[in-house]
Amino acid sequence: TAKSEGKNNVVTYTAGIDRRVREQAELTQDLRVALDLGQFEVHYQPVFCSSGERLCGVEALLRWHHPERGPVSPAVFIPLAERSGSIKEIGEWVLRTAAHQVAAWQRELPGCADLELAVNLSPAQLRDPALLTTIASALHDSGLAAHDLILEVTESMLLSDLDLARRQLNAARTMGAQVAIDDFGTGYSSLSYLAKLPADQVKIDQSFVRELESGATSVALVRTIVDMARALNLDVQAEGVEEVMQQDILAELGCPRSQGYLYSRPLPVAGFASFATERATLPERAGVAQLPFA
Ligand code: C2E
Ligand code: MG
Ligand code: MG
Ligand code: MG
Repeated sequence: TAKSEGKNNVVTYTAGIDRRVREQAELTQDLRVALDLGQFEVHYQPVFCSSGERLCGVEALLRWHHPERGPVSPAVFIPLAERSGSIKEIGEWVLRTAAHQVAAWQRELPGCADLELAVNLSPAQLRDPALLTTIASALHDSGLAAHDLILEVTESMLLSDLDLARRQLNAARTMGAQVAIDDFGTGYSSLSYLAKLPADQVKIDQSFVRELESGATSVALVRTIVDMARALNLDVQAEGVEEVMQQDILAELGCPRSQGYLYSRPLPVAGFASFATERATLPERAGVAQLPFA
């Protein structure tokens, strides 16, 4: 009957929750030692300027190789690390590792002298009064210039802790670093609010880019973001560009920066080195469609 089915659903449902809670507790436990056991790796996704013509930077994206589960998505473990507090230590490791790596690439790889590094910050890092010292020391130790560092934060992070967040980010900007609003458009920013944000760049969320081909409304939406960014003197970048047609529309709308599988997936260290070297030695190309890694 419907009634007993309903009961069964409740049973499966709570069992499902139970399993998830246990799994999350286990992962949280494993996260505490993951750093010491060397289970983390930073991957680097190329970022392109001038509507796809110039490799101008990378975004550092954390990877966790779990000894039993294999790769665990950052979308899963970052929130757990956030809740358990281990994100501060992990985040600092990402910053230091990536800063050293990008500084080395600037010295060693062709066409990468001005390569920028974007690093994602978590809410706990933004609330940490030691953040600025951590950033300054990572820059100092690696030799990376402050103006080559981009700190990515989301709108919701700024909303929940605006005062402290604003102070910390403005201090980082005074130091010379840039601030990007990640996943832009998914939060609740009003125009007047956005004008007050301590930001240099907005990254248009993948969901808008994905919709671009589907019609006039989504094109109008992205056009609005691009125009608004320009009016506020913010740089603008598209995320999740997978199709040439999306890139064409973005170029037409005047979005200068982009990132996505069309150009390259996030790459391990050696993968990025060959990607950059190959790009620098290939002759001029007409369009991104011919990219070897597209
Ligand atoms: P995000 O910062 O918005 O990063 C972009 C995500 O989109 C990455 O997923 C990237 O691999 C993926 N992506 C890039 N281009 C494309 C595309 O063309 N198509 C599709 N479908 N996806 C694309 P990833 O690496 O799984 O990271 C997910 C999220 O985890 C990140 O979103 C970020 O919020 C968080 N994250 C990753 N690394 C770190 C970190 O070191 N610290 C913190 N606090 N968060 C991190
Ligand atoms: Mg990001
Ligand atoms: Mg994003
Ligand atoms: Mg995100």
